[in-house]
Amino acid sequence: MSSVLRIALQKSGRLSEDSYQLFKECGIRFDYGTGKLKSVSSNFPAEFLFLRDDDIPGYVEDGVADLGIVGENVAVETARNVETIHRLGFSKCRLSLAIPRGTDWSGLHDLAGKNIATSYPRLLGNYLRDKGVSAEIHEISGSVEIAPGIGLAEAICDIVSSGSTLLSNGLKEVETIFRSEAILVSRPALAENKQQLVDKLLFRIKSVQAAKNNKYIVLNAPNASLETITALLPGMKSPTVTPLATEGWSSVHSVLNENDFWENIEAIRAAGAEGILVIPIEKMIY
Ligand code: ATP
Ligand code: ZN
Repeated sequence: MSSVLRIALQKSGRLSEDSYQLFKECGIRFDYGTGKLKSVSSNFPAEFLFLRDDDIPGYVEDGVADLGIVGENVAVETARNVETIHRLGFSKCRLSLAIPRGTDWSGLHDLAGKNIATSYPRLLGNYLRDKGVSAEIHEISGSVEIAPGIGLAEAICDIVSSGSTLLSNGLKEVETIFRSEAILVSRPALAENKQQLVDKLLFRIKSVQAAKNNKYIVLNAPNASLETITALLPGMKSPTVTPLATEGWSSVHSVLNENDFWENIEAIRAAGAEGILVIPIEKMIY
């Protein structure tokens, strides 16, 4: 069996740019664009296939590709036998129910017995079943938002980002049924040699993601507040503390997570830190 990983990516759409960027940041080079159907990496044993996103779970299940990047919405909707091996954090969107703006809304039960147009019949069907609401689902493949206007349905269930498409079609969002992001999916039970390549790729992806979620921080602190400040900056192991040329002062270097960044910066300043520099990290290897 060949030990080249075959990876399916969306050819062109809302997943493409971030998918290409991710591999670039992982140091994996390949050509894309200008109608290419596939491309072999010049520096990693991988071959990339450029496909419509809806086809990716099926190709991964059938073994045409070993891995693929798709929206979780598409992975769940297509219900193919693929494994989610990593969440990628981009192409975030939500699948919501929307109704004509002039219509009252008191809750999901308002949709009982109504027609709902969607490209996601499985996701919507599961949601309605869970909530004990029985409605008629009309599957349509595109331009779902025009369905109420042309009398095809009383409500729709579609991907919403800014809400401007809904607005321009006289609709209002009433309930979110699913939140999605890009995921890396794999064919279950890959051969050992391919699994090793997947592990290598995952290690790189995690290092890139960790770097994005953290910042390198350098600051000056009076020695009297070092204990408080270093407690706020645990870093990867512990912060680096070196003396400054100015008596009684030290320089502190550490790593700070994006999530509690502003809270911590305020506490660090309050403790007496000065000259705080915050620097992006390119890769972070645990
Ligand atoms: P294709 O031609 O490959 O079938 P498509 O038109 O079906 O493409 P896109 O609109 O490119 O699909 O969306 C691909 C995926 O990106 C969606 O399935 C969803 O997971 C995510 N997505 C959709 N809309 C947005 C958005 N506004 N912002 C971020 N991500 C989105
Ligand atoms: Zn699609």
